[in-house]
Amino acid sequence: MNQLKERFWQEITAANSIMIAGHIRPDGDCTGSCMALYQYFSKEFPQKETNVYFESVPEKFEFLKKIQERKTECSDGKRYDLFIAVDSSDKERLGEAGVYFQNAKRTICVDHHISNLNYADLNIVEANASSTAEVIYQLLEEEQIDCEIATALYLGIIHDSGVFKYENTSRKTMEIAGVLMEKGVNTAKVIDETFYQKTYVQNQILGRVLLESMMVLEGKGIVSCVTQRMMEFFGATPADLDGIIEQMRLTKGVEVAILLVETGVLTYKVSMRSVKKVNVSDIALKFGGGGHVRAAGCTMTGTFHDVVNTLLEYCEIQMK
Ligand code: AMP
Ligand code: MN
Ligand code: MN
Repeated sequence: MNQLKERFWQEITAANSIMIAGHIRPDGDCTGSCMALYQYFSKEFPQKETNVYFESVPEKFEFLKKIQERKTECSDGKRYDLFIAVDSSDKERLGEAGVYFQNAKRTICVDHHISNLNYADLNIVEANASSTAEVIYQLLEEEQIDCEIATALYLGIIHDSGVFKYENTSRKTMEIAGVLMEKGVNTAKVIDETFYQKTYVQNQILGRVLLESMMVLEGKGIVSCVTQRMMEFFGATPADLDGIIEQMRLTKGVEVAILLVETGVLTYKVSMRSVKKVNVSDIALKFGGGGHVRAAGCTMTGTFHDVVNTLLEYCEIQMK
């Protein structure tokens, strides 16, 4: 890490213009990590031109300082000295921001996905880290981290560690969180208002998806589906589905949970979670996706039953 940190700072020092962007449909880790870097560079290097891009930002993250300064489109395709890809395991997941990656003079990728393809000039990928925010914390100087930067990092950590409960949570995760707390983060508020709180619509759709879920693999698996009709009926956005798969995974006896979200005709965004045996990242990789050992995703085509049956076959092999 020390050597990577040194190389990271060499790149930052050499760049006069920096673009920061994460993956499509940004989650808490992606948003918090990007904003921590953006706030840090804006504060420490006001002479540099630093920008951050998001495809969209869930409303619950809008409280982060300076997030209103973000870019929301990439049509200028500007050639930056340095592009930093955050929390994105491959180039394609950068979405529209891929144009900045292509055009940049130098590129860095900061990530924690085991499936990361090391696609940048400098790749800082720690597969054992709870979150990209945890990796970024280690790149920054502790003394320069103010309460707002700490809040962004803390947000990233709690979202990807499921508030410190997933297997990816380590002693280091807790120690970093401790330092961030001392910077004055309002932890209870960040946890409640960005992680646990649900809107009425979110609760309704959660209820509906659980109601229609099915137990498979003799009680070791659970599957469910969100159709486009359901999304329209509830007036829901993809971000409203956060946390549903986690509730499925928590069903007693379940080792693997699969949620299919219909995104087009016979096309599904697949989310998978496991408890302690199935490597869902391996399965997602077979279908062009990726992720982590216990949380991964991909896009698949076919009918609901075809897709589920295909995935369950792979799960079964691993559970033997
Ligand atoms: P999700 O189920 O969408 O919350 O995603 C779980 C994990 O898998 C996240 O860490 C994502 O980054 C990763 N992931 C989800 N979908 C894909 C995909 N199509 N390609 C690569 N990684 C993915
Ligand atoms: Mn992410
Ligand atoms: Mn992440």
